[in-house]
Formats: sequence, C-alpha cells, structure tokens
Amino acid sequence: MPASSAAAPSPTDAAAATATAARPKSAPQKSMEKLGLRRDIDLALHLPLRYEDETRVVPIAAARPGVAVQVEGVVREAQVEFRPRRQLVVRIEDSAGDELVLRFLHFYPSHQKSFAPGQLVRVRGEPRGGFFGLEMVHPTFKAVQPGAPLAASLTPVYPASAQLPQAYLRKAIAAALARAPLHELLPPGSVPRGLPPLREALNYLHHPPPDASLAALEEHAHPAWQRLKFEELLAQQLSQAQARQERELLRAPPLRAGAGGLHEKLLAALPFQLTGAQQRVAEEIAQDIGRGVPMHRLLQGDVGSGKTVVAALAAAVAIDAGWQCALMAPTEILAEQHFRKLVGWLEPLGIRVAWLTGSVKGKARKQQLEAAASGEAGLIVGTHAVIEDKVRFARLGLAIVDEQHRFGVQQRLELRRKLAHDGLEPHLLMMSATPIPRTLAMSYFADLALSTIDELPPGRTPVVTKVFGDARREDVIERIRDEVAQGRQVYWVCPLVEESEALDLQNATDTHAQLSAALPGVMVGLLHGRMPAAEKAAVMSLFTGGSMCLLVATTVIEVGVDVPNASLMVIEHAERFGLSQLHQLRGRVGRGAVASVCVLLYTAPLSETGKARLRAMAETTDGFEIARRDLEIRGPGEFMGARQSGSALLRFADLQEDSALLQQARALAPRLLLEQPAAAQAQVDRWLGGKAEFLKA
Ligand code: ADP
Ligand code: MG
Repeated sequence: MPASSAAAPSPTDAAAATATAARPKSAPQKSMEKLGLRRDIDLALHLPLRYEDETRVVPIAAARPGVAVQVEGVVREAQVEFRPRRQLVVRIEDSAGDELVLRFLHFYPSHQKSFAPGQLVRVRGEPRGGFFGLEMVHPTFKAVQPGAPLAASLTPVYPASAQLPQAYLRKAIAAALARAPLHELLPPGSVPRGLPPLREALNYLHHPPPDASLAALEEHAHPAWQRLKFEELLAQQLSQAQARQERELLRAPPLRAGAGGLHEKLLAALPFQLTGAQQRVAEEIAQDIGRGVPMHRLLQGDVGSGKTVVAALAAAVAIDAGWQCALMAPTEILAEQHFRKLVGWLEPLGIRVAWLTGSVKGKARKQQLEAAASGEAGLIVGTHAVIEDKVRFARLGLAIVDEQHRFGVQQRLELRRKLAHDGLEPHLLMMSATPIPRTLAMSYFADLALSTIDELPPGRTPVVTKVFGDARREDVIERIRDEVAQGRQVYWVCPLVEESEALDLQNATDTHAQLSAALPGVMVGLLHGRMPAAEKAAVMSLFTGGSMCLLVATTVIEVGVDVPNASLMVIEHAERFGLSQLHQLRGRVGRGAVASVCVLLYTAPLSETGKARLRAMAETTDGFEIARRDLEIRGPGEFMGARQSGSALLRFADLQEDSALLQQARALAPRLLLEQPAAAQAQVDRWLGGKAEFLKA
C-alpha cells in the first residue's frame, strides 16, 4: 500500500502486518498471498463464487436427486466394502425413520471414528438414485450433538487453491472482514440510490441470510453487488481523472504552426487533398500541442484511413516551432515504411530525418545519434531503439507512437520518463488502427484524449472477403495466377506457430516452395520474422517496386505495409488468428482503386469462437464493428493489448452490463476529486493499492 493512503488511517492493518512478520508463514498463508490476499481489505474483497445452504436440515424423504441438501441422522451401520472397490459405506436414519446411504471411495480411520453406530451426524451433499434408494457420494459431514445450532447464514464458497482449504479461507476472511477499514468514504447522497453502505454490502455478500435470493446473488444483480461494482468503477474513474489532473500541472513546449510555415508547405506539396476527417483530427492535435501542457492523445483510425500524414503534419508543426519529433513503430518494416514516406514528404522541405533501429550499427548509428543529439535531425524515425538509453535528443517536443497497443505499458512508462527533461515533458501522440469500443474508451481509457478518423480516402473499393475450407486451396492458387496475369500483386500469410518458431519458419518455407512450383515464371518472395533486417528490406523493396508478384509472409507484414497494387490476400489457417489481427491483415489490400479480395482459408474443425471470428470478417469491413465484436468474443482482458496487466482490470463490474453504473461513476468522479480530494484518494488506495500507476501509462 502506498504511503499516500494515510487518508484512511488503519492501525489494524499495521498491527496485522507486524503480527504476520513475527512468526513464520504457514502454507495456507503463503497460498493466500499468491492469490493477492495480503491486506484485510484484499480479503474482504475476495467474494464467494457461490453459497451452500447449511441453515436448515431437511427430512431425508424430502431430498431429491441432483439437489444439494443438508440432512441429519443417526448412524445405523458403517462398514468397509470391497466390491466393486474398497469403500466406506455408511447407513444413516433420520427421526422420521427414512434411510440414506453415504459412500466414501477415499477415507481415513478418522472417518470410521465419526461414523460410530449411534452417533448423530449432519451431512451435506447432492443425493443421487442408487441401487438401494438415495445415496450421497463424498458428502461433507460432521458429528453433532442433538439440537446443535444451525448456520445462521449461507456458507460462502470462495475461489481457492489446492493448498488453501475453504475452512481456513473462511476463517481468515471472516476475521479480516471484521477488522478491515470499511467506513464510508463517499459523501452521503453520492452513491446511487438504493445501494447499501459498503460494510453492509460486504457483510451481506460474505454471509447472506438464509432467505437471500441465490439467483440475484449469483447473477450479481443484488444491490450489494451493485454497490461493489459502483465502488470499483468509481476508483477506476478517479484514478484516471487524477492522471488527467496531474498532467494538467506539467509543462510542455507550446507548439504552434506559423503562417506560411512548414505545415502549410507540406499540405501544399501533398499529392492528395486531406479528407474531412483528417483535417478535423489534424486541427484537434494542433490545438492540443499549442497549449503549454503535454498532450496525451490517441489517434484512432481504421487501417488505410491515412494516419501517417496526420502524424507528419503534427511533426511539421513541432519542427517549425524549433523542436524535434520522434516517431516510433513496433517493427523495422513498419518503421522503414514510415521513414521512406516521411523522407519523401519532409526532406524536400529541408528537414533532416534520422533513422534508428536495432539493425543500424557502427558508424551509421553514430551519425544518426549525433544528428539526434545535435538537433540537426528534426525528425527521428525508428523502432523502440529510439528510446534506448544512449539516444539523446537536443530538444524533443513531440513523440509519436504508431500501433501503440503493440508497445507494453512498461515501454511507455519508460518513454515518458526518458523524454522528460528540464521540467518539460514532450507531447505524446499514440496511433492505433484498432479502435477502442465506446465502453472501453469511457472506462479504461478515460484519461486519454481521443481523435478519430472515421472516413477513408476517396476512391477505395471495399475488400470482398471469402471464407474457404482447405480443400479449395487449388482454386485459390488458380486465382493467384489470374491476378498476377493482370499485373496485380498478392500476399499469402502463414500463421505463427506459437510453440515453435522453428516450425513456424518451416511452414512458411514449405508454402513458399510449394507456391513457387505451382506458379512457374512468377517471382515469389518469402518474408519471415527471423530473417536479417537487410534481407527483409531487400524483399520488401522488390515487392513494393512491383517486380515481385507474390509475397509469402508470416505476420511480420501485419501492420502498416502499404502497396496499393496488391489486390489479393490469402490468409492460411485463418482460424488461428485473432479478429483484430485478421482485420489488420486484410487492410493490406484494397489500398488502391482496384477491387480486392481477401481469402480466409481454414482447417476444420472450427471452435465456436473461431467460427464467430470468421463470420465477423465475412460480414463487415468496418473497424469499429470488428472491435465491438472482438470485445464480445474475447472480453476486455485480452482486448486491451498494452493495458493487459490483469491486475488493472475490473474484477466485479462488467462494462456491457453495468453501463448505467459506469455513467454514474463518471459523473461523480470529477466532483469528488474537486470537493473531497482526501476521500477520493482514499477510495483509489482502497481499491487499486499500488496498481493505480499502471493504469496511467
Ligand atoms: P494508416 O492509417 O493505416 O496508417 P496510411 O497513413 O498508411 O494509413 O495511408 C494509407 C494510404 O492512403 C497511403 O498510401 C497514403 O498515402 C494514402 N492517403 C492518405 N491520406 C489520403 C488522402 N486524403 N487521399 C488519398 N490518399 C491518401
Ligand atoms: Mg499506419
């Protein structure tokens, strides 16, 4: 827990910590810590998966097969039988004279002791119809005195692990729940109407009364659940509002476009007109970097919507204002594409563009480093090598990260640390072709300013998508022949074999050989992640130049490659790709005026999600719709790429179902932060502990 949590002083926490430090940890204690159950509050927030009803005893005659119940009876007989295998068989009889058989395939001498004839036992389990009437296999049981009290509330069953017995966890949680500082942090009237106080909600969820509705509890619809979800969503909103506030206090160089400056010259030199959407987002960015506060903006736009030129315009403004701009891409190929394009646009205007990737070495590297450090280079393009320790910038004013979701949170935190100096932070523009669905944008990315390009440049013909079984492979190769004969180019994408890079290479190599043999006279290239960068670049330039007609590649071409003459994309084993990956890949065709086709080859049998993905691809080319379906199929955990650290995800709230609560949390967060900053901080600490930092990256 961070030191700043002092707003919610908790002597009990401290006492518990000293107590545990004093004696060695038991095995269940260690298992609890592995589950992240350290503080009292962590235990209090560890909620039951389901409940068992031990609040009543039913007559054996009322027990039904398949419905768990608790019964009570006197042991009439207990013996070890050997057929069909060794087992303990116990016969009990309740006060009405009805009998039930208990069967234990694993048992210990202690079992036999509890089942001494004449002993009264309480047994809980799911009866099934047996040869001699009803029986229970491996019920829970305990010997009791006549009239022993029943449980006062439903018994919680917690997510646990093999080394962590339920009984131990139940005790630990009950104790922690009593100790945990659960006083109300939120001012009266701020919690949505009808929801109980936090302590009451938690007491209810851990120990529901005998008459509680199990359905409402299990579906998380009960007001107690709603309260927890609201708390969690509020903490998330607060932490992001804090991030935004903190950023407002930072300073960045104000970058303003001068009249008749580079920005205008670049616009005039472009071979096309900006689309309305490009103009709009370029203006949003210009406004933002013109303020003296660091920009933190995500530019989203479908594949091919023209984000690069928007980035170039922002770079032109920065350079014109006397600052440098760095542009980073996740792969060398993509970085190189940007480099070529930007050199083409900017060097004629007198701007030096430096080039930094892992494969730029020796003297060349030294030169590029000097250009960045001296300020001679206005723009530095590269992979994450750009943020390596040895790289120095003279005056970095703007950092642009393409395909931001491919960079990890850690890398982005590092980027911000590295780029800030002299009390000035650079502006940050992130670009992504995977649009964030609205619900996610409002929750996880609430601290981010968003610009959206929602229009493609004119003259594009939509890509037609076909889904074929493997058996149609020959037809597909025939189609390739046709396309090539018409002077078009084709991509063939091989899947990544996750377990083995060697197998992956083997696959691509085999396919390459096979296609070369099937298409005599056609230049067929191979592009693979393991090839040296220079070789990759050579293959790419043959394909970009048009002399190579068919390119067999693993997913290294996934992002950003731009060859307008390519009209056919074949994706082999399409069922192994994720939905957004397929959409990105498909975006490599349909970049010119030619009608293009994307063929998804699959190998049966398809899983349900595999089917759903291929169907989505066939039904829509709209990136936003794809993202929405992806969220539906995978859930936010996997969707989020860079923010994927499980710890930062919502545990209780569901963005689809709880959008009303999300709206309420969004409305409350800024007000609470303004009017009761200490309570707001305590709320964030209670829920996020040290994880809040991660959410801000
Ligand atoms: P993405 O958003 O996927 O990064 P790019 O920036 O690579 O897209 O742009 C795709 C292609 O469209 C490029 O060839 C680019 O030069 C071209 N382009 C961008 N904007 C326009 C426009 N307004 N009109 C015509 N072509 C454009
Ligand atoms: Mg791009």
